[in-house]
Amino acid sequence: MDTTIAIVGAGPAALSCAIAAKKEQIDSVMLDKGNLVNSIINFPTNMTFFSTPDLLEIGGIPFTSTNFRPTRLEAVSYYQRLVRHFGLQFEPFCEVQSIIKENSHFEINFQRKGRTEHLRAKQVIIATGFYDNPNRLNIPGEDMPHVSHYYREPFQHFGQNVVVVGGKNSAVEAALELFRGGARVTMVHRREEIKESVKYWILPDILNRIKEGNIKTYLRSTITNIGRDSVAIHSGHEKTEIPADAVYLLTGYHPDMRLLTQAGVSVDKQTQIPAHNAETLESNIPGLYLAGSIIAGRNANRIFIENSREHGDLIVSDIKNRQNV
Ligand code: NAP
Repeated sequence: MDTTIAIVGAGPAALSCAIAAKKEQIDSVMLDKGNLVNSIINFPTNMTFFSTPDLLEIGGIPFTSTNFRPTRLEAVSYYQRLVRHFGLQFEPFCEVQSIIKENSHFEINFQRKGRTEHLRAKQVIIATGFYDNPNRLNIPGEDMPHVSHYYREPFQHFGQNVVVVGGKNSAVEAALELFRGGARVTMVHRREEIKESVKYWILPDILNRIKEGNIKTYLRSTITNIGRDSVAIHSGHEKTEIPADAVYLLTGYHPDMRLLTQAGVSVDKQTQIPAHNAETLESNIPGLYLAGSIIAGRNANRIFIENSREHGDLIVSDIKNRQNV
C-alpha cells in the first residue's frame, strides 16, 4: 500500500482532510494538477476574502492578518505554512486520470510531466473544487485571446474598452477595479438589476458608479457574439454592437464531475449533486469520500472555505472508526 488516504486536490478542503489525518497519525498524500491552493493563486491579484481570517483557519492554527478581510497573498502564505507546520505530503502537478476500486484498495492513475504514474490507497478523498471549470456562454469568439473567464488585474486595460459579463461578486469587483484602473467599463447582465448576492459593502459602490454613468450597464441583456474589437449585445429585441478591447465573462464556475463518475460515483442529473452520506461524506463507493464544494453539485457556491473546513474531521473520524472495528 503506497498510502492510506489519497486526497485528490490541494485546496483548503483537501488541507482540512490531510491535517485531520495527520492528527490521527494516518498517512495521506495530496495530489493536485496545479500547485498548492491553485484556485486562490488564480484569483484576482488584489482580491481580499469576504471571510475574516479566523473563518479561513484550518487545523486550529491561527491565521493572523492586519486586515479585517485578509488578502489572497496572506491566505496563500498561511496555507503554505500549514503544509510545512504539519509536514503534509503533497505532490504538485499530478493530474489524476482515473480511480479504480480493486478488492481492498484503490488504484489511482495520474499524469506527471507527461508520464503516467500510479498510487495505491486504502481510501480516496476527492476535493477538486470548481474554479477550473467556468460556465461557458458557448458563443462565437469566446475562445479569442482577449476574452477570459478569469479576471486578474486592471493595468493592461488602462484607457481601453472592457466588457464585463455577469452581475454577481466577481463581475462587480472586477468592474469596479477596472473602472478605477482607468478602463472604460461596460457591464452586461441578464437580470433586471445588479443586486442578488452582491456583498452589502460592495453594492452601493457599483450602484452609484452605474447611476452616475461611469460604468455603463446593459441589464436584461446577453452577449451573442464576440469579435476582434467589439461585442454584440441583445437586449430583448434590440441588438447593439459596442467596442471591446477585452472581455471578461465572469459567469461563475462549476465542479467537474468526470473523475467522480469514472470512479463509479452516482451523480444526480438535475442537481449534479454526487451521492454521499451527509454525516460521513462517503460516496456510494465504499472508501471513496468527497470534500469541499464538489458535494454541492451545480450549486457549488453554497460551499466555501468557511463551511468546508470541518469536512476533514467528518471524513477522518469515519475512516478511523472503521479501522477500529
Ligand atoms: P456566480 O456567483 O456564480 O455569478 C455568476 C454570474 O454570471 C451571475 O450573475 C449569473 O447570472 C451570470 N451568468 C451565469 N451564466 C450565465 C450565462 N450563460 N449568461 C449570462 N450570464 C450568466 O459567480 P462569481 O461571481 O464568480 O462567484 C463565484 C463564487 O466566488 C461565489 O461564491 C462568490 O461569493 C465567490 N466570490 C468571492 C469573492 C471574494 O471572496 N472576494 C469575490 C468574488 C466571488 P444570474 O445572476 O442570473 O445567476
